[in-house]
Amino acid sequence: MVQAERLQGLMREVDEAGFLSHGHFAFRSGLHATKLLDRDQLLCDTQIASRMGYAIARHFFLSRIDIVAAPSVWGAGLAQWVGFFLDPRRPVIYPIPANGQYTFPESSKAMIDGKRVLVIDNLILSGKTAQELVQTITAHGGTPIGIGALADLSGVEFPIAVHGLLNPYLDIHAPDDCPACADGVPLTEVGY
Ligand SMILES: [Zn+2]
Repeated sequence: MVQAERLQGLMREVDEAGFLSHGHFAFRSGLHATKLLDRDQLLCDTQIASRMGYAIARHFFLSRIDIVAAPSVWGAGLAQWVGFFLDPRRPVIYPIPANGQYTFPESSKAMIDGKRVLVIDNLILSGKTAQELVQTITAHGGTPIGIGALADLSGVEFPIAVHGLLNPYLDIHAPDDCPACADGVPLTEVGY
């Protein structure tokens, strides 16, 4: 409950900082929302980004995470905070995209084998990136434990735990039960 109140307060700050748009938005996944995060600006703000990172790390405090993996530079900023706030602090590794697939640098391979891995990205859009990274982690002998992000906009059922930190605050709906659709609010295609 305290955590939910803290997140409400954090969302208010995100809104006041101008990092939240209000309207009616459609994502490529097909889902709609009445609130849209400016993910880039949000992660530029180290004060707000650090608290998002703490909140995600906190969600996985009991998951005995050994290492954090982020698929992209967009997820990297958040992943650094999550790794920092896990207790004890955990390293963060990054895969290299190669021929449409991910691989890990030699130095990271030994860090993954036999380890419990948390995947962090800024947003989960189609879910494809996270799923590919999960497969790569498994192929390198790691155990993917969960996926954390600012928001999960995919609507995908993942085989492991997914935590979209701000999902409860973004008013995300399938078009069928979207209140903004019912009210005839003009729809903006987000483009991702
Ligand atoms: Zn709608």
